[in-house]
Amino acid sequence: MTNKGWNLDNSYSRLPNIFFKELQPAPVRSPNLIVLNRPLAASLGLNIGQLESETGVQELVGNRIPEGASPLAQAYAGHQFGHFTMLGDGRAILIGEQITPSEERFDIQLKGAGITPYSRGGDGRAALGPMLREYIISEAMHGLGIPTTRSLAVTTTGEPVYRETKLPGAVLTRVASSHIRVGTFQYAANWGSMEELRILADYAIQRHYPEIQDEENRFFAFLQSVMNRQAALIAKWQLAGFVHGVMNTDNMAISGETIDFGPCAFMDIYDPSTVFSSIDRNGRYAYGNQPKIANWNLARFAETLLPLLHDDQEQAIQIAQRVVSNFPELYRHYWLKGMRGKLGLYQEEPQDQSLIEELLKGMEKYRADYTNTFRALTFDNIEGQALFETVEFTAWYAKWHERLEKQHESIDEAQELMKKSNPAVIPRNHRVEEALEAAERGNYDVMNQLIQVLSHPYAHSTEQEEYSLPSDQSTAYVTYCGT
Ligand code: AMP
Ligand code: MG
Repeated sequence: MTNKGWNLDNSYSRLPNIFFKELQPAPVRSPNLIVLNRPLAASLGLNIGQLESETGVQELVGNRIPEGASPLAQAYAGHQFGHFTMLGDGRAILIGEQITPSEERFDIQLKGAGITPYSRGGDGRAALGPMLREYIISEAMHGLGIPTTRSLAVTTTGEPVYRETKLPGAVLTRVASSHIRVGTFQYAANWGSMEELRILADYAIQRHYPEIQDEENRFFAFLQSVMNRQAALIAKWQLAGFVHGVMNTDNMAISGETIDFGPCAFMDIYDPSTVFSSIDRNGRYAYGNQPKIANWNLARFAETLLPLLHDDQEQAIQIAQRVVSNFPELYRHYWLKGMRGKLGLYQEEPQDQSLIEELLKGMEKYRADYTNTFRALTFDNIEGQALFETVEFTAWYAKWHERLEKQHESIDEAQELMKKSNPAVIPRNHRVEEALEAAERGNYDVMNQLIQVLSHPYAHSTEQEEYSLPSDQSTAYVTYCGT
């Protein structure tokens, strides 16, 4: 099969026009392709030679509009740290939807493509470091098997952007199964008509949940389906130790993909109060709060659907509450399932939850590295952490082994499950910083090597050893939004 190149549609531009503004990306001075995701390009049916050519790079940065594209900025609203506000793509432009050789549809979005009607005083631009950071982390998430938007390319613009200092500007070419957010529905519910809301809901159903489109109460099924995917997603974040950092309703995708990698980072030491973002002073989006916040965001989503759920508002509210109140149980189901995998347990037992919680409690008390504790258990290599020397752990370990020996599957089979469930590598903060610092000096080898290692986190290869070490720095890692 030869990949032909762009095969763009833009179904979003056929929605009612309150949902977007058509506009062209602002041209940039001298684009330079920094990193191209070849496997992703191939799976999209794109031609790598063409993308790397001069016209290809002009397209990746927005200087040239590929055939079939109809660029637009999407309107949306959102609760930011609990406060409702009008937002929209302030620095991102949707070029179109690539239809892949297997007939799948993916948004192609240029992040950092210039000012839009939703820029609210921002410059519409992005700096190289944060765009590379999104590239590294989103691809790491994909490697970990966590639903996520992906990164096709990062291209420098040849123009500076001004933050606290002068930085090189860049555009990230982002790929997503769509960019419809909880915030898109909040926008429709607040500023659209009932008909526009219904059209948006039907559009989202058709794009992400086509299996429910003929159901008698499809909007009820839609709410359940979105909740189900979010529960599965957040469980995966928790299992991997991922802290999103800015779970505003505008950063929650209806598709169930992780979106917007601003201040996110992976936790080293297990601690539910872990926060990296400089602006999250009250820990609203701390690691341990993520399931609760997802639940809160879904309640906001359910509110937007009320007029579609029932003609009678009281009844609609009851329906919505009934669905959303199931979130904790649904989340717990996915989380327990994942945790069993991490401990090599094939069947369910009533004591599973307490067995897991006991381990986590010990990890928190003795400040154990989250990822490496599970790696140590996987390879029965119980050393290198204070936790392993404690009486609590010894007692826990005996209990766990008793459970493992009781199960039908062999210890080898348990280990196989654990190897698939416990990554050898996560994007360690100091490794990501090291890669970005090298990139800033024009050396992209460190980053490319890191991306390579992170692309198969369950390989447990020897080259991954050195990437698995946490930083020995004692200072807390801090991340920033809106860069
Ligand atoms: P975020 O915190 O990245 O989810 O962004 C929140 C909102 O701010 C979104 O509407 C973004 O489009 C907008 N935004 C972020 N950075 C910029 C920028 N440099 N210029 C214009 N809008 C921006
Ligand atoms: Mg956002």
